[in-house]
Amino acid sequence: MSTKTFPLTASQLEELAQQVPTPFYVYDEVSIRNTIRRLKSAFSWNQGFHEYFAVKATPNPFILKVAQSEGCGMDCSSLPELLLCEKIGVTGEDIMFTSNDTPAEEFRKAKELGANINLDDISHIDFLEKTCGLPDLICFRWNPGPLKGGNSIIGKPEEAKYGFTTEQLFEGYRILRDKGIKRFGIHTMVASNELNPQYFIDTAVLLFDLMREISSKLGITFEFANIGGGVGIPYRLDQEPVDLARVGEGIHAVYDEQIAKGLAPFRLYMECGRVITGPYGWLISRVRHIKQTYRTYVGLDACMANLMRPALYGAYHHISVPAKAGEPDTMVCDVTGSLCENNDKFAIQRSLPTLVPGDLVVIHDAGAHGHAMGFQYNGKLRCAELLLREGGSLLPIRRAETVDDYFATLDFDAVKNFRA
Ligand SMILES: *Cc1c(COP(=O)(O)O)cnc(C)c1O
Repeated sequence: MSTKTFPLTASQLEELAQQVPTPFYVYDEVSIRNTIRRLKSAFSWNQGFHEYFAVKATPNPFILKVAQSEGCGMDCSSLPELLLCEKIGVTGEDIMFTSNDTPAEEFRKAKELGANINLDDISHIDFLEKTCGLPDLICFRWNPGPLKGGNSIIGKPEEAKYGFTTEQLFEGYRILRDKGIKRFGIHTMVASNELNPQYFIDTAVLLFDLMREISSKLGITFEFANIGGGVGIPYRLDQEPVDLARVGEGIHAVYDEQIAKGLAPFRLYMECGRVITGPYGWLISRVRHIKQTYRTYVGLDACMANLMRPALYGAYHHISVPAKAGEPDTMVCDVTGSLCENNDKFAIQRSLPTLVPGDLVVIHDAGAHGHAMGFQYNGKLRCAELLLREGGSLLPIRRAETVDDYFATLDFDAVKNFRA
């Protein structure tokens, strides 16, 4: 069982929504900090353990600075994400650049920043060398293929587009070694939103075994192993959060075993996003209309442009109504947005307290891959974000988009002169 909380009272929320037009996001800084501390403490046995926060989960520079101040590096996979890090002063090996189908300019920028560059394919060794020369330290992403079972979001590893095959890894590290590279890392990420702690421990067994084999065969040593992100969160009430301490202890035992078998000590890295910010971000929206047809539809002023996980993956997001907490869930309804797409629904046949237009609803677990996935289809605009700070103040950390933002890429003078 997991419990769903929201850090503001119903009256604090109503007061906030009088000042800030809905929809908007609220993030809880204290809980984000506490989660990073729990993760770091679970791996404190490893000298040099580093969490690289996955920027794509919550690409807001205020949130990134919170993570940075807790000692996190940043995991980037695009040029704008690299630039975002540069703007807040995260550079060098505090950046992990894990991209795929990578354009040359992104490799150039990553190299210029001194980032850890994690290659997704063996052909990228050549591409990187031709683009900007090889850096001192190179990491490869391993795809274990049929060695590892599937996971519902990321799918079966052998069907995933990411990473090197096992054979390609041996070949790739040999190429690097023969080119005089001395510093090596290895990466794998084969899960997304995984709730089973054993999954991460099993991944470590496979990865560390492989590292030992590569090390002894090629005579190279690894500085780090990056086991990626993918730690799940209990979106549903009947799910349990991942016990990070247990994951840390389990991987510690695997690590010690491998060191005893002769693997050289290395730093362990992670690049979690979801587990750090997911449960600590909420999308706040107001009920706009209630519609009764073949079903009851609760129309919100938020839509899938603000949070697309339910429409994209059929993901469950808990919805609560703080002003009606304790009232029986007697209204069975589809909770929708206003997009002209029938999958623009936050919930389908959900039991909620009886709602009326004007009610404020809280959509939970939206802090990661929420606002970040926003888009402008149908002229829907991305909403504001606020950070709840320790002590209770609410800091605006991103304004809502305006129609001018929507039109920013168009030249209306050219339109005026255009004879259709
Ligand atoms: C998305 C992603 C992450 C973060 O995943 P979470 O599920 O948010 O922990 C980390 N590393 C890579 C390479 C990713 O693509």
